[in-house]
Amino acid sequence: MFRIRRIHDDTLPLDREAITQVEGILRSQFASLAEADIQKLPRQLRNPLHYRFRSILFVADDLRGKVRGFALLQHAPDVGFCYLELISVEPKGTGGGIGGALYERVREEARSLGVIGLFFECLPDEPTLCRDLELLKQNRARLRFYERYGARPIIRTAYETPLKPGDRCAPHLLFDRLGREGGLSRKQARSVVRAVLDRTYGKSSSPGYVDMVVASFQDDPVRLREPRYAGGETITPVRVPWSIDMKIALVVNDRHAIHHIRERGYVESPVRIGSILRGIADTELFTRIPPRHFPERRVKEVHDLHYVEYLKRVCAKVEAGKSVYPYVFPIRNATKPPRELPLRAGYYCIDTFTPLNRNAYVAAKGAVDCALSAARSLHQGYRLAYALVRPPGHHAERRAFGGFCYFNSTAIAAHYLSAFGEVVVLDIDYHHGNGTQEIFYERADVLTISIHGHPRFAYPYFSGFADERGKGAGVGYNLNFPLPEGVTGDEYRQALAKALRRLQRFAPKFLVVAFGLDPAKDDPTGSWSLQAKDFEANGRMIGSLRVPTLIVQEGGYRVRSLGTNARHFFLGLWHGFHGRRPGAFSGPTR
Ligand SMILES: [Zn+2]
Repeated sequence: MFRIRRIHDDTLPLDREAITQVEGILRSQFASLAEADIQKLPRQLRNPLHYRFRSILFVADDLRGKVRGFALLQHAPDVGFCYLELISVEPKGTGGGIGGALYERVREEARSLGVIGLFFECLPDEPTLCRDLELLKQNRARLRFYERYGARPIIRTAYETPLKPGDRCAPHLLFDRLGREGGLSRKQARSVVRAVLDRTYGKSSSPGYVDMVVASFQDDPVRLREPRYAGGETITPVRVPWSIDMKIALVVNDRHAIHHIRERGYVESPVRIGSILRGIADTELFTRIPPRHFPERRVKEVHDLHYVEYLKRVCAKVEAGKSVYPYVFPIRNATKPPRELPLRAGYYCIDTFTPLNRNAYVAAKGAVDCALSAARSLHQGYRLAYALVRPPGHHAERRAFGGFCYFNSTAIAAHYLSAFGEVVVLDIDYHHGNGTQEIFYERADVLTISIHGHPRFAYPYFSGFADERGKGAGVGYNLNFPLPEGVTGDEYRQALAKALRRLQRFAPKFLVVAFGLDPAKDDPTGSWSLQAKDFEANGRMIGSLRVPTLIVQEGGYRVRSLGTNARHFFLGLWHGFHGRRPGAFSGPTR
């Protein structure tokens, strides 16, 4: 068993370990590589412009994290091609399809980037060019393999001229059209060859070498060698329109509907999820991944132990279909919580409209599992993840529920990610995320920012003021933008731009967005007038930060526009993150 995943950088321990193993393979299998070239891999991944190639590393690793093969793909956005610099699988014939899977993944990535094709070098399979019989056998096997994908050497050029006079056995340049029709023009080929030679060989070639090789490309279109290995049928690869990990990992709390409070006017209803799912369904932005179960310990790392135990016990005791509304609030005598469990509700609650029922605990724990699963997907190669959950969570404090919230899924996911680096929680729900603020109020490693209706007139009324800036070590790491009662899309963006400037100074490894759709026009709980185009612009601004981002669903109650607004937010987010104009390649469009 193996899986193929993309390594974006060396931020996470798992990825760092994979890069170390790749370096080990490079040392043992590519004896001619200089140590400095091997060690520059992490820098190459982090700083593409410096090397004039965007490096994309794929590894095939097994369940224990042992790297069994890898491919290093170089993307030249300025010239519009991909160059496969290295592909390697473990030597002892135990590859088990790893080479093929890696090559297909590379082709899929290249296709998704909309380039003219994939280029790479391969040592020659002619006895006149390669005298070593063992090597000749390997080279033939390789060229036979690539031929099945339609990739063949470009002929009638001087590409095979050794870099230094006297060297032997110089490689062919192969071209893979990625299954498309049409040839490669001389002009395209010349700019590709110049870029490949300049960027990969740089100073090691003799003066005039690059010009000589480039000028030797005379045919227009260039010619590929005739197929040589009859009998090997052509592979028609599965058409994947664009790369899997460029999609947004979507985790949905499937069992949310068990939590259904049927009292009139209770706007936090199951239909919200269906509305959003329908809105985003045909964008092609998402790939759905199943939620995993996480131990309750994850909840207790953020919430008070007694509070968690209380919620579990009291919910189990409530009669099915009934709701218990807190009505006694023993705020002064905290040492004597009421003995009766339902009576005790007010001991742990901040308002009178968030009831306990039979399924509240189970549904809230389900939402936590989804948020954590989505957070985890950011370790598995996804850069964007969306936990579409209810009940929401951002009003839930360390030891209190309220505002339709029981467990603070956003905070639990942010805390989980904070083990791997600094996190920013950006709350863009109409209501202040008092729970998230309270949970991280004294921490400097999690910056909390919230843009919301001023507590003077908006729930939760007691928190969200501009002077709440953090406490102790956390001073300066909580930032509130309380906005007036009427806010347009433009005015909102001004606040968002300020928030994002602070965020960028903090330079987080991860961003968690508490995503409310209640700033929307006509939301029954809000007073602002944001429309679909505004949500798209907000999404784009957040995406352009290019920080691995987890979106957790919070509020938003105008069922009619939830789907459209969510759809536009995610289109903006995706295009902002991947820096592409719609239509510039075969990516998702509106
Ligand atoms: Zn809200």
